[in-house]
Amino acid sequence: MTLDQNRLRIALQKSGRLSTDCQQLLKGCGVKLNLREQRLIAHAENMPIDLLRVRDDDIPGLVMDGVVDLGIVGENVLEETVMERQATGQSAEYSVLKRLDFGGCRLSLAVAEEFDYQGPKSLEGKRIATSYPWLLKRYMDSQGVKFKSVMLNGSVEVAPRAGLADAICDLVSTGATLEANGLVETDVIYRSKAVLIQSANPLAASKQKVIDKLLPRIQGLQQARE
Ligand code: ATP
Ligand code: ZN
Repeated sequence: MTLDQNRLRIALQKSGRLSTDCQQLLKGCGVKLNLREQRLIAHAENMPIDLLRVRDDDIPGLVMDGVVDLGIVGENVLEETVMERQATGQSAEYSVLKRLDFGGCRLSLAVAEEFDYQGPKSLEGKRIATSYPWLLKRYMDSQGVKFKSVMLNGSVEVAPRAGLADAICDLVSTGATLEANGLVETDVIYRSKAVLIQSANPLAASKQKVIDKLLPRIQGLQQARE
């Protein structure tokens, strides 16, 4: 299976917190998909749309490199990728077509219950475990606090207990995971939702037509849920 240049290409998270909502969204827009097979690419049956099912971290880059036309990703991952790409001289162009009504979460600092936290200054010179080093650095710079980041792509919440870090900067929705790990949320540094983004590359008229069909349907679905 390959990607057809004439079909609108949309990158979605293959499996994770955004995947069910993304599939529901497309279904609600009348896009008929056959996702039973665990394939990288899925062709819509009734519209000229191909889905690329990947890890969420890969979605902003695929859009910014023009490999796909659209992508759905959390603003947290999007913003982190923009900062990283800008710092390394890669293109970071895209446009937001729609902020979506799912995937809500916040990126927060948290410390162990016994940590005497008096504000960001309490983290001066400390080690902070995170998967979001750029968002964290932007916040700490804004607070004038120097720190050391410990990059972890998973198990961030166990880092303090394991002696790997003094604090963490991680995604939170209910706070249950923090609590289960004896951590207390101290500062919300970024609030996020899923967004539909588009590549900055010029789009063929036929693909634009498909987008013009999808957008009002998404709008209608979101309004109905309000
Ligand atoms: P992948 O295997 O695709 O890399 P992942 O483990 O990095 O998946 P998920 O945990 O599935 O990612 O989260 C995907 C996105 O869902 C997050 O980047 C964020 O935008 C959103 N999200 C919503 N609530 C939460 C939460 N409580 N914790 C983590 N992410 C959340
Ligand atoms: Zn990921």
